[in-house]
Amino acid sequence: MSGRIPKEFISELLMRVDIVDVINSHVPLKKSGANYVARCPFHLEKTPSFSVSRKKQFFHCFGCGASGNVIGFLMDFNRLDFVEAVEDLALFAGLPVPKEEGQGYRANLPKLNELQALLASVAEYYIEQLRVQQAGKQAVAYLKKRGINSQYATEYKLGYAPFEWQELTEKFNQDLLLMAGVLGVNDDDNRVYGRFRHRVMFPIRSKRGNVIGFGGRVLDDSMPKYLNSPETVLFHKSQEVYGLYELLARNAKPLRILVVEGYMDVIALAQFGVGYAVAALGTALTEQHINLLFRFSAEIVLCFDGDKAGRMAAWKAMDAVFPCLKDDRQVKVMLLPLEHDPDSIIRVEGVNAFVLRVEQATVLSDYFFAQLSEHLDLATVEGCSQLTLKAEPYLQKMPDGLLKDMMFQRLGQLANFKVARKKLTVKNLNKKKRISCSRIGQAFS
Ligand SMILES: [Zn+2]
Repeated sequence: MSGRIPKEFISELLMRVDIVDVINSHVPLKKSGANYVARCPFHLEKTPSFSVSRKKQFFHCFGCGASGNVIGFLMDFNRLDFVEAVEDLALFAGLPVPKEEGQGYRANLPKLNELQALLASVAEYYIEQLRVQQAGKQAVAYLKKRGINSQYATEYKLGYAPFEWQELTEKFNQDLLLMAGVLGVNDDDNRVYGRFRHRVMFPIRSKRGNVIGFGGRVLDDSMPKYLNSPETVLFHKSQEVYGLYELLARNAKPLRILVVEGYMDVIALAQFGVGYAVAALGTALTEQHINLLFRFSAEIVLCFDGDKAGRMAAWKAMDAVFPCLKDDRQVKVMLLPLEHDPDSIIRVEGVNAFVLRVEQATVLSDYFFAQLSEHLDLATVEGCSQLTLKAEPYLQKMPDGLLKDMMFQRLGQLANFKVARKKLTVKNLNKKKRISCSRIGQAFS
């Protein structure tokens, strides 16, 4: 997200909203003297010690000590970062959030709540098309063939986008449809077109439950198999994942989160009782994805299909993972057998075998060093030096801590020499090599 939110806007926002209204919409408050009270949402208690002051625009819990203003409340209650909490609050107040300093923020902002309302309505429209369209029945048949039952089709709000898209413009505002990415404009002749035609539709929801975009899948083997909404003011592929809202609705504090490749995988797994899977939105995993997921669970299991593309994606994910590896966080890697994805393997092997695979996924350090050592001979100096050269850039990206130290120790054990990570940079390593070579040269001259 570019640009900072101007301070004046935050002040104005805090003036416009009342903390009592905002908290009351999350935790029902009761009036008690000058203040409002409730049972504390941040700790378990029988009698209310959570108090909200309208006058001070502040909350305080006498039980656990939680306190803060309305932005702090939203951050803690919905586990948002500061910017997200401000965005939520702005939505509550019906104000657009300015992003760039200096630009008059009142005028330029896309109508976020209008867009959100539009996308919610479009999602409902697609659901309706499953029933009213003759072709919608094909989509229903397709979902049945893929083994998705109606309860889960409803939970994930699956729909159908008809081949003829013009009805959308009769029902909804065309400018908003364009802004939301439901329609596109052809570069050559400026003609408007429907982005999703004759596809099963997967609404993508933000973790707060708002529809922010769509994925659409063809009903046959034509290409592209999946199509996603483009980036819009609401939809940021590098920051959102598919299925997180549904996951958190089931369990706000999952023991682990499984990251899979396909939307259909997420739904099929949920249907089998593995309700803790999400999928990236047709892009490579980013640091933002990983950090987002770590807000809700301390363990992330990255599950990849057994084909070559899956294995490459697993390795590529290391770029995103290493900068996020703090001491209290655990990442594991789970590679499925060739020819399988989660949807297929859980049907073949059953849920217990699948869960066992998840539980026995490879810890990151084992996966990482095994991948790097694969074609190296660690019985030779050359092999060890190759390993060090390849591993070090990843390890350097880790935040300082015990885990980082131990990864360096492991590298040292594998490469069979002592690695003092602060001293031994790649440059120093090369220098050392040169020195020893010249000494050898002297000895022979
Ligand atoms: Zn409390």
